[in-house]
Amino acid sequence: MRILLTGGAGFVGSHLSEKLLGLGHSVVVMDNLITGRQENIAHLIGGDNFEFIKYDVTKYIAIDGVIDYVLHLASPASPVDYLEHPIKTLKVGSLGTHNTLGVAKKYGAKFLLASTSEVYGDPLVNPQPETYWGNVNPTGPRGVYDEAKRFAEAMTLAYHRYHGVDAKIIRIFNTYGERMRHRDGRVVPNFIDQALKDQPLTVYGDGSQTRSFCHVSDLVEGIVRVMASDLNEPINLGNPAEMTVLEFAQKIIALTGSKSKIVFKDLPVNDPKVRRPDITFAKRKLKWEPKVSLEEGLRRTIEWFKKNYKD
Ligand code: NAD
Ligand code: UDP
Repeated sequence: MRILLTGGAGFVGSHLSEKLLGLGHSVVVMDNLITGRQENIAHLIGGDNFEFIKYDVTKYIAIDGVIDYVLHLASPASPVDYLEHPIKTLKVGSLGTHNTLGVAKKYGAKFLLASTSEVYGDPLVNPQPETYWGNVNPTGPRGVYDEAKRFAEAMTLAYHRYHGVDAKIIRIFNTYGERMRHRDGRVVPNFIDQALKDQPLTVYGDGSQTRSFCHVSDLVEGIVRVMASDLNEPINLGNPAEMTVLEFAQKIIALTGSKSKIVFKDLPVNDPKVRRPDITFAKRKLKWEPKVSLEEGLRRTIEWFKKNYKD
């Protein structure tokens, strides 16, 4: 297949590009590099089946040649990034989703939207099944991301129902791994970077909020299975092993052998108190579940951070 992958120079997109090329597909990455980096895909550029177009997908997309699949991953994803770019985040979730759906409709291509566990907001149900409608503050600071993704989901299913586009929606839960930016602000790169420099780990709030972390290799395998499925309804992809942020900080200190202490900082507004995917549906529909343990995934990530150490 010839696949259009928006956000392909980002963390998840670069791993997905590699996977799709490995499966024999041809990949066209479209990315404006707002939070991504060309060095993430530098090893792919120049390859026979790989094309990189620096472009903002909130603008009308004209593309040469046939497209068989559109994967829409473009969007700032770290809370620090989307709070720095609130309007661009709203635009890529809304206008960007509309434009990429338009490409899929034009070519009769299949479509996949990278949505997020943030559509569940600060959930009142734990773990979160796909049937949960969420608890989102639309006007809070995180609303720019949450509501953009909720709009994107609604638009995606409208194109499916009204235009017959074979569209899929994945709700990604906290995913980490090699190639995350050292200072993208998310908890995994923050803590690893701080631990490797023996600086204090910044736990927000009292650290009792929970998250569940999935290694990027497991996510990418899940995405490939969703692409091949007959699904047209949202599906959770994530690792259900839940822990508190404080426990996670202690784990990073232990795994890095760091001398770092823990300091407590203010909790960001509307920071979800719990988060854990219910992956019953993915297990049944895709025969998928994460395979990489947190220890193994973190070891790989820490090694990568050590080799790519930057001050
Ligand atoms: P990332 O910031 O590393 O990658 C996002 C990419 O999108 C970047 O390369 C960025 O430059 C690009 N982009 C943003 N706006 C664009 C625009 N207007 N035009 C073209 N390109 C644009 O983040 P990531 O972690 O790789 O996330 C990828 C996708 O997965 C996002 O849609 C995100 O919402 C979703 N997601 C990720 C996670 C996670 O834990 N990593 C969790 C939930 C959802
Ligand atoms: N967090 C933290 N210290 C940091 C960065 C994040 O304690 O340096 C917390 C954050 O408040 C949240 C959790 O870690 O409760 C995960 O944050 P992240 O930014 O990775 O993404 P989120 O899950 O909130 O989308």
